[in-house]
Amino acid sequence: MANAPVQRMSQLMAKTLRDDPADAEVISHKLLVRAGYVRRTAAGIWTWLPLGKKVLGNVERIVREEMEAIGGQEVLLPALLPREPYDATGRWEEYGPELFRLQDRKGGDYLLGPTHEEIFTLMVKDQATSYKDLPVILYQIQSKYRDEARPRAGVLRGREFLMKDSYSFDLDDEGLARSYALHRKAYQRIFERLGLDYRICAATAGAMGGSKSEEFLAPADAGEDTFADCPNCDFAANTEAVSYELKPVDASGVPAAEDIPTPDTPTIETLAAQLGVPASATLKNLLVKVDGEIVAVGVPGDREVDMDKVEAHFAPATVEMVTEADFAARPDLVRGYVGPQGLDKVTYIADPRVAPGTAWITGANKADTHAKNVVAGRDFEVDAHVDVVVVQEGDPCPKCGTGLKLDRAIEIGHIFQLGRKYADALKLDVLGQNGKPVRVTMGSYGIGVSRAVAALAEQTADDKGLCWPQEVAPADVHVVAAGKALQTELALDVSEKLSAAGLRVLVDDRAGVSPGVKFTDSELIGVPRILVAGRRAGEGVLELKDRRTGEREELTVDEAIARLT
Ligand code: ATP
Ligand code: MG
Ligand code: MG
Ligand code: MG
Repeated sequence: MANAPVQRMSQLMAKTLRDDPADAEVISHKLLVRAGYVRRTAAGIWTWLPLGKKVLGNVERIVREEMEAIGGQEVLLPALLPREPYDATGRWEEYGPELFRLQDRKGGDYLLGPTHEEIFTLMVKDQATSYKDLPVILYQIQSKYRDEARPRAGVLRGREFLMKDSYSFDLDDEGLARSYALHRKAYQRIFERLGLDYRICAATAGAMGGSKSEEFLAPADAGEDTFADCPNCDFAANTEAVSYELKPVDASGVPAAEDIPTPDTPTIETLAAQLGVPASATLKNLLVKVDGEIVAVGVPGDREVDMDKVEAHFAPATVEMVTEADFAARPDLVRGYVGPQGLDKVTYIADPRVAPGTAWITGANKADTHAKNVVAGRDFEVDAHVDVVVVQEGDPCPKCGTGLKLDRAIEIGHIFQLGRKYADALKLDVLGQNGKPVRVTMGSYGIGVSRAVAALAEQTADDKGLCWPQEVAPADVHVVAAGKALQTELALDVSEKLSAAGLRVLVDDRAGVSPGVKFTDSELIGVPRILVAGRRAGEGVLELKDRRTGEREELTVDEAIARLT
């Protein structure tokens, strides 16, 4: 492979900035902009400048290598998608306002893909005919589109962002479990190679449907997820991950769907007051227990709030049925609903249409039908089976008893066992060994590639700037010409030699920029090793500095090359 040419800062399309962007709240946003990695094009829409693109490319490469290692085949599907497959699975409506919907000149409905289960399912339906074609893992690295309610944390939460999404297709449950395990391992390798600190947490399947699901969370203050972390063992759980199994008792006598007046939906604050739990300051991790039983957990804002059981506890009202169609017609009437996931296992799902601060008020007792003011016990037998125990700070760890910590984290990856939800909706069968059609079972697996860049920035930055791990850094070494012609000549010479030895080199050869500014910029940019041609350039002596530790040593050109290669 040809060596990468030396990247000269005098020619680089990127300016470093002294001040943080005015709207920036999180470190990665501030530093990636200031160091000239990204520029904001519109809210939640980002341009990647040369240094940023290099880091992004390095993350992509690692993801690609590990996906290939588990037999993944890379494809590229369109981002502009027709409505019909999303109608077939119900997601055209269910996805809510996060979905970018648009029309072509003939009035046909389209969307910009937020995730691609439908289209992959159809692709396999088109390509695979027999059991011999399975199992298969397909993946792509592609821009995704979600009209996020609050795209404010830089590239951590884009409205356009780069995702690696993969999908597994198997003949049976054992096959799916194998594909899931392969992905789990690949994800562990990817995040280790990226140098990210992460935890694996059980999670709810969310709007994706299906059964088993785990999230990969990178602890960081800027994170928007809260998780319970054991300081002593490997226990970690997402505090959002609670699901109840609801069994319908008897839905007969339940009134049919009709136009029901909007009840006074209690706010979380009201409920908290009624329940005597701490008010809004602690509502980030609201945990509500009634008679010792966990009935709700949630985060106010654009996140889901599982308040159905709270509502059930307070609601004296009759059962009111609301259908999906009602929902579509009167979004102001219905504040939340449960997706049609079958009768005996209902997982409460996020509905982005739920107004911020509004309690979750539904239950489900009929397929494709959603009820308000359901009374648990009367309308349902509530098998209050909690998949993941939700905890508060200091609660004992279920594994080892140590007091748990509640930490903030960034969701960097998410893996799902989808089962047959999509295959059923889109009728994906292959011919089985016995000549009969077999319904395919699926998994889907995502990594936020652009988000991973920001997560790494969050975890590795210090008070001077970015500080990349070697494998993702935009260069292996940042050579600084700290002085005039003599220093520049030495810097360029050593840069060429390092490049010839196979290193990726960024050299600060800018004329008219003071050594002080160049040092500050090199620390801001965050290449792990900085090689300075300065005071002793005349003797051919350079100073090598470790960006993280600040350790320095003086070396000749030959010594520097030997040390760095
Ligand atoms: P979040 O909870 O942060 O909104 P999500 O659960 O909606 O994420 P998934 O549908 O699980 O996201 O998508 C797979 C991965 O894509 C996530 O784990 C995350 O790393 C990444 N991702 C999701 N939304 C965004 C976004 N708006 N910007 C950047 N990356 C994102
Ligand atoms: Mg989301
Ligand atoms: Mg999530
Ligand atoms: Mg997720």
